[in-house]
Formats: sequence, C-alpha cells, structure tokens
Amino acid sequence: MNAKRKRGKPAKRAAPAPPPGHPYVRNLLGWYAAVKRPFPWRGTADPYRIWISEIMLQQTQAERGVRHFTAWLRRFPDIRAVAEAAEADVLAAWEGLGYYSRARNIRLAAKRVMEEHGGEFPRAHEKILSLPGVGDYTAGSIASIAFGAPEPAVDANVLRVFARVLDICAPIAAAGAKRMVTEAVRALLPADAPGEFNQALMELGALVCGRSPKCGECPVRGDCAAFRNGTAADRPVKGAKSARTLRETVAGIVLDADGKACVRRRPPGGLWAGMWELPGGEIENGESPGEAVARHIAGALGTPAAVRGEIAVVRHGYTTNRAVLHGYLCELAEPAQTRRDDGAAWKWVAPGELASRPFPAGHRKLLERLGWK
Ligand code: SF4
Repeated sequence: MNAKRKRGKPAKRAAPAPPPGHPYVRNLLGWYAAVKRPFPWRGTADPYRIWISEIMLQQTQAERGVRHFTAWLRRFPDIRAVAEAAEADVLAAWEGLGYYSRARNIRLAAKRVMEEHGGEFPRAHEKILSLPGVGDYTAGSIASIAFGAPEPAVDANVLRVFARVLDICAPIAAAGAKRMVTEAVRALLPADAPGEFNQALMELGALVCGRSPKCGECPVRGDCAAFRNGTAADRPVKGAKSARTLRETVAGIVLDADGKACVRRRPPGGLWAGMWELPGGEIENGESPGEAVARHIAGALGTPAAVRGEIAVVRHGYTTNRAVLHGYLCELAEPAQTRRDDGAAWKWVAPGELASRPFPAGHRKLLERLGWK
C-alpha cells in the first residue's frame, strides 16, 4: 500500500502509543529476528564492544563501520588497551571516521572505567551516562543491550520511526517531540528483551522506515498512525535548517630538498587538537588559491616556497561547515627554516612516515591522492 494514498490534513495531536504487550512489539521482534544484518557488534553482551560500535556508528554507515570496528578491536581488544594507549595512537586508529573528539572521549572514558570502576564497565544507567562522550542514546543502548535494563535508546532513526508511528506534527527537533518519543518507546520496551527491541527499532529505521518509507514492507504498519492518516511522507516535520557555511581553503604539500614533507601536530585544544596538518588556511577575498597557499606557507615557515601546481581539489564537511580544499605541491627553494607557530613546530617528515599519523579529512584525502596514506 502506498503511504501517500490517503493524504489528509496533518493530525493535530500525536496518536497514542501502542500499549505495552501490544502486537507492535511481537511483530517488530519477529521481523527483526528474520532480517537483522549480521554485524560483528550484534549477538554480544560485551559492553565494551557495544559502546565502541555505538560511538563509531554515530556518524558512519553500518556497512562502512564494520571495517573500522574490526580494525579497532584488533588494535584495542579491551578497555584496558584503550586506557593505556597514547592519545596519538587512539586518534590514528580513528582516522577516517571524523569527529575526533569521539576518539578522545573513548580514551578518557576508558581511563575513568579503569580508575573508578576497577576496569569493569559500570552497569547503572546514570553511571554509564556520566562517562565522557556518552549521551542518552548511547547509555540507553549499552544499558539495554549489555545489561538488559529497560532503557530506551532513541537515535535519529528511532525519532523518525516514531514521528510516523505517533504521527507527530510538531518539528521533530523540538525537545517535547523527543520526550514524547522516548516515553512511548519506554512504555513499549518488553521486560525480557529491551536490547533486542531497541536494536529492532533502529533496524526498522535503517531498512524500512527511512527517508522514503517502504510502508508496504513494514511489519508494524497496522499500528502506524502516519500510515493510517496518509501522512508518512510528511513525517517527521523538520524545523528550519541551519545554514551550512562554505569555506574555501588551501593546503600545501611542501617538499624540501630530501623529498620530506612539512607537517606539524596541532596544539592541544580546539578543532582537530593533537592531529597532524599541512601548512595552509583560508583563501581571502580577491586572492587566488595559488596566492593563498604561497602566503600561508611563507607565514608558517618564514620562507617562500615555489608553488609547483595543483594536485587536487577535495570537498569535505566538518561540524556545520562544508569546505573546498585546494591542494598544491610546493618546493622550498632554500634549506628549511622551520619556526614555531602557535606553539607547535613544523617538522620535515618522510612520506612513508605520514601513514600512521592522523590528519583531518581534507588533508588526509590530499595525501591519499599521492598514495601516502
Ligand atoms: Fe511506513 Fe512502517 Fe514507517 Fe509507518 S513505521 S511510516 S508504516 S515504514
């Protein structure tokens, strides 16, 4: 059946949630048991694995997350291994996933678990929630999946599904809407399988009730108010979009006479703290990308460089920005005169040594074009 078939006026009030023990739960769990994807973080009650997967998958598609998850577990098989690792090693293992504060928080939380909980992952929801980088959703996931606690785990998928199940006509980003969804999920959680139920809802959001809902395949359409009202395609209601800023930047791969590249570790604090970077920065009004890269290199290194040519233009996004990065190959005419800049020294590093150092996405993509990552 087509969800748009009976398009009508938006419901004025959200529909009541299905009551506990409702067929909704049975239908959803039965469907999940039959179709769930066999990801390596499923079928385990190990809170460490569940925690890492949940943090990793916040900004990463599940299929892509498998490779990162498997590599992470090889490098850090347990909490102790993360707690004892240097920050640089944790950031390097996180490379490619973006939002590096998540990796820093994992390390801090692992240290906290070792120091305050004797290496045992805390079971109580509020203790899980107090760990660095752990929010309501992640705490609910770990508590329900690892420890069987009746805690909802409401992420964007579940918000979208329930905006439809309850036919919520308020913007879904509003605090009231999220509260309504959280309470509706809490009321439905089966006492004997809260973790399965939470995972089933996420799977429903990922496989069936996505941006374009496939209502004809949906195991819970009999209890979906938006399906009934013909409003599924209009839910969730979005709020006003915050504008994304477009930044145009440059970076130089500056080589010295020995073929070494100029890089530095960013100072602690601020965006991309502790990661490595190439010299570069923003393009100013009226400046060409080539002029901008020459200016940034001269400013950073205190000596001019010959700009040899553009290697690539890469596009990437971070926080609320979209960025276009022009990458140039440059050479120093004279022996390198590195100097301190913002408290972090520029260094000359052989290309083969760059692979193990974490770079922000744009710079990493440039280095990949040269086969150095
Ligand atoms: Fe359609 Fe099912 Fe989503 Fe309701 S929950 S909108 S029936 S896919």
